Order: sequence, then C-alpha cells, then structure tokens
Amino acid sequence: MPAFSLALSEDQTTLQKWLHEFAADVIRPAAAEWDEKEETPWPVIQDAAKAGIYSLDFFAEAWRDESGISLPLIMEELFWGDAGIGLSLVGTTLGAAGILSNGTLDQIGEWIPQCFGTENDVKLAALAVSEPNAGSDVSSMKTTAVYDEARDEWVLNGVKTWITNGGIADVHVVVAAVDPALKARGQASFVVGPEFKGKGLAQGQKFKKHGIRASHTSEVILDDLRLPGSALLGEKPRLDERLARARERAAALARGESVQSARQKGGQAAMATFESSRPAVGAQAVGIARAAYEYALDYAGRREQFGRPIVQNQGIAFMLADMKTALDASRLLVWRAAWMGKNNIPFTAGEGSMSKLYAGETAVQVTEKAIQILGGNGYTRDYPVERWHRDAKIYTIFEGTSEIQRLIISRAISGHQIP
Ligand SMILES: Cc1cc2nc3c(=O)[nH]c(=O)nc-3n(C[C@H](O)[C@H](O)[C@H](O)COP(=O)(O)OP(=O)(O)OC[C@H]3O[C@@H](n4cnc5c(N)ncnc54)[C@H](O)[C@@H]3O)c2cc1C
Repeated sequence: MPAFSLALSEDQTTLQKWLHEFAADVIRPAAAEWDEKEETPWPVIQDAAKAGIYSLDFFAEAWRDESGISLPLIMEELFWGDAGIGLSLVGTTLGAAGILSNGTLDQIGEWIPQCFGTENDVKLAALAVSEPNAGSDVSSMKTTAVYDEARDEWVLNGVKTWITNGGIADVHVVVAAVDPALKARGQASFVVGPEFKGKGLAQGQKFKKHGIRASHTSEVILDDLRLPGSALLGEKPRLDERLARARERAAALARGESVQSARQKGGQAAMATFESSRPAVGAQAVGIARAAYEYALDYAGRREQFGRPIVQNQGIAFMLADMKTALDASRLLVWRAAWMGKNNIPFTAGEGSMSKLYAGETAVQVTEKAIQILGGNGYTRDYPVERWHRDAKIYTIFEGTSEIQRLIISRAISGHQIP
C-alpha cells in the first residue's frame, strides 16, 4: 500500500462517471435556455431528484467519504455541466451546512431532511448571512434577533441580500446579531420554516445577474419575524455562555489586555460554515474551467486558418498548456483542502482559502482565454464559452472575495493582524 496516492477509489470513479453522464445528458443541454430565462430550473432539479442526485442521502453519502474527495468530484462534474443549474442543485447544501455546523443533533435530524424534501416533493434551502452593508465585513451585520423571554420567542428584523434561493427556499437559515456590540462573536443562526413565508419573512428584490443566471438570487426581508425559541440553532444556555465569554473578552480588551489573552476568553461565532465549504466552492470553479478548456482544445484542433488548425500555432497551443496547468493545479489545491478538512487537519496556511482563491481566479482566466481561442464565435451566445466566462466571475466574489481569501492566507502565514 503506497503511503501517498491521488488515485480515486472504484466508488469514486463510478460516482464521477455517473454524474458526468447526468451533466452531459441533462444539465448541459438545458444550460443556455435557463441562462436566458433567468429562472430556477425546476424541471432539472426534478430530474436530479428522480435520479437520486438532488437528495439528502446523496449528499450525506458524499459527506461521509473519509477521503473528503467525493464532494469536490460531485461539484466539478455538476458545474462542468452548467454553473447556474449547478448552483440551483447545490444551493440547498449551504442552508443544510448552516444547520449541520450550528444545530443540535435533534435539530439536524428535524431540519436537514426538510431542506431537500422528497423525490416527488422537492424543497430548497438558503443561507442568509450577507446584508447591503455587511458583505465582506459580516461582523457589521444589522439584522437583530431579540429574545422575548415571556413568550420564549425570537424576534428577527433586518434585510438580507444576494441570497441564493432567498425567498423561494422552504427552509432559510438566517444569521443575526443577538448582541450587536460583540460583532461576529455576538451572532447566532436561526432556522426558519416555510410557515413563516409571508408572515415575517418575505422575498425582496430578485437580482438580474451577469452570470449563474439559472440560480435565483434575492433579498430576504425580515419584518418582526417571530420564531419559537427552538428556532435558535444550538442550545440557548450554550449561546448565553458564549456571549458571556465574548463580553468578558471585550471587557479585557477595553482594559488593555493583549489580544492573545483576550482571545482565550472569547468564543468563535457561527462562521465555521464558510471555512469548511470553501474547497467545495473551489471545485465548482474547477468544473467551469474544465468545461472551457476542453471546449477550446477541441475547437483549436478543428478550426483552420492559414491552411492549418489554429492549435498548430504556439500562441494558441501555449495558451492551452497554461490553461491545463492552472486547471490541474486548482484541482490539486481543492483536493488537498478537502482532504485536510475531512481529516481535521488544521488549515495553518489558509489552505481552504487558497483552494477557492486559486480555482476562482483560474476559472476567470481560463474562460477568458477560451473566448480568445474561439475568436468571434467565442464572443457570441451561439457558443457556450461566453456564458462560462460570465459564470466564472462569481467565484472571485461570493463565499469571500479573492481579496478576503488573500487576507485569510496572509494572516495565517504571517501571524500578523493584517487589516
Ligand atoms: C450571485 C451571488 C450569490 C450569493 N449568495 C449568497 C448566499 O447564498 N448567502 C449569503 O449570505 N451571501 C451570498 N452572497 C453574498 C456574497 O457572499 C458577497 O457578495 C461577498 O461576500 C462580498 O460582499 P460585498 O458584495 O458586500 O462586497 P464588499 O464587501 O463591499 O467588497 C467590495 C470590494 O472591496 C473589497 N474589500 C472589502 N474589504 C476588503 C479588505 N479588508 N481588504 C481588501 N479588499 C477588501 C472586496 O474584495 C471587493 O473587491 C452572494 C452574492 C452573489 C453576487
């Protein structure tokens, strides 16, 4: 048995092949239509549910894979098919991950199945963190959650924005400030069931986007949303303890104690969701980049100018060599981070961020080069590469912009508080 191997298991190869067929036969043929419609592709989600791909069991099985690689494999194949449809298929996992990382075992058992529904009654979930004035700086969130002790209810008020599946989801996981003065350490997550739609939770503006247009992105308005005490993800006494520690930490800092000693007094808030999902997001970008690279390679071999295929020019061939190199490097970074995450190996150099940063920027560059290789055809909507380029751009923005990933990596490697 070799000590080191990048070989996929038989199960993983089978999974990859099956998903590739679904992506090629079902997702990709539908991609242009849903991109133009700018609507959630319900028939494709339905097909994926029937095939057993859009289901809790499917994602739970992938999550259980001890190597950590199955999830990136799934993402790469689905997003190779189409990123907008891909996000409509996996957006629910963001909400589910919010429940998994913050909820009690009972809450996980109660709510995660409701995020997916069943083959014949498909449901969606959403994770609502971002706000108009709190994007990269999540700590400045204005949405509040106030506990009404007399009625054992939480009252939420605020506006969330750019939420994938926002307003159309059956289950919304909402992050809100319980003690705004404590910034990120004063936040908690709440689960909102479908019965609150129109009763405190409403969809606001639906955004018209540059890319991933088959994925629904909206504001979510929370207006005196009254939730039962049980909607708090995690136990109330533990939240109270965490808040008490954070208040002690804030007081210690105010007294001039060092950040290090104050840090020991404060707990971390609900942001674990993002760090663990970054390699999977990077894998989505790998899928888009691979689609564009393969298409451009094939085109360059068939398109003739000056009496020979354009690939016989170094200018084109070297571009393809760079595309393939960056693509493979991205996948290796994604696989490393996914493997580390699954095996609880700490990201001491921001490895999760590295994978998302590099794969996201590679997807933008590779899709741009693909347009160049296709020339005029690449610039038209008769060919898919312009769509892939539009889709790729989101990977330098959501789940932490490229600049924020660089912040995380630079802080991790230097140990300095880079502002
Ligand atoms: C299609 C789409 C889907 C999304 N889905 C979700 C979702 O499901 N749930 C959710 O909660 N959110 C979602 N988001 C929100 C997304 O996570 C935010 O857009 C992202 O975090 C960036 O925040 P912002 O847009 O406010 O940009 P800003 O924070 O305003 O950043 C603007 C620019 O300033 C830079 N910048 C900011 N701070 C620094 C700094 N300290 N150093 C250097 N540069 C900096 C940024 O990198 C960026 O280039 C989605 C967004 C989009 C567009």
